[in-house]
Amino acid sequence: ANKLGSKKERTLAMIKPDAVTKVGNIIQMIYDANLIVTKAKMTKLTWKQAADFYMEHQSKSFFNNLVQFVSSGPVVAMELMGNEAVTTWRKVLGPTDSGVAQKDAANSLRGQFGTDGTKNAGHGSDSLASAARELEFFFPSTTGHGPSNTAKYSDC
Ligand code: ADP
Ligand code: MG
Repeated sequence: ANKLGSKKERTLAMIKPDAVTKVGNIIQMIYDANLIVTKAKMTKLTWKQAADFYMEHQSKSFFNNLVQFVSSGPVVAMELMGNEAVTTWRKVLGPTDSGVAQKDAANSLRGQFGTDGTKNAGHGSDSLASAARELEFFFPSTTGHGPSNTAKYSDC
């Protein structure tokens, strides 16, 4: 065991384009929830990359709006680590619909920074399997040019 406890997990957090200006507030919320940032990247997804990221929703009515929104500006992707990171981070996010979040979880990330059902400020993996896929999407283990993702926080 270590400081983060025995249920230490990794999850993928993404700050969506509507909340990238709130990255400072959001990183504070991450640490306040006893999670740590172990990787981070700002990038702008193409339409196709956003569609791949959200492929589980391709048959939904909101799919086109969602993909258009998420590819409309920069996003900040982060690997978060901590005790039960998947559920802890989703709790920080709050309800999917920002309107519900503003009523039922006003201090949540979506309650503070979300706008509506689609523009809801942040993403969090919904399971360990999703986290593995989504972390590989943003932080591929096979790197190209530039510094590689070799930093390890296993002693945190
Ligand atoms: P979550 O992001 O909370 O895991 P989902 O995986 O169900 O929620 O949906 C992915 C994203 O699609 C949401 O974060 C939101 O941006 C958008 N979305 C989900 N449901 C709706 C909806 N009913 N109408 C519009 N957009 C939606
Ligand atoms: Mg989801």
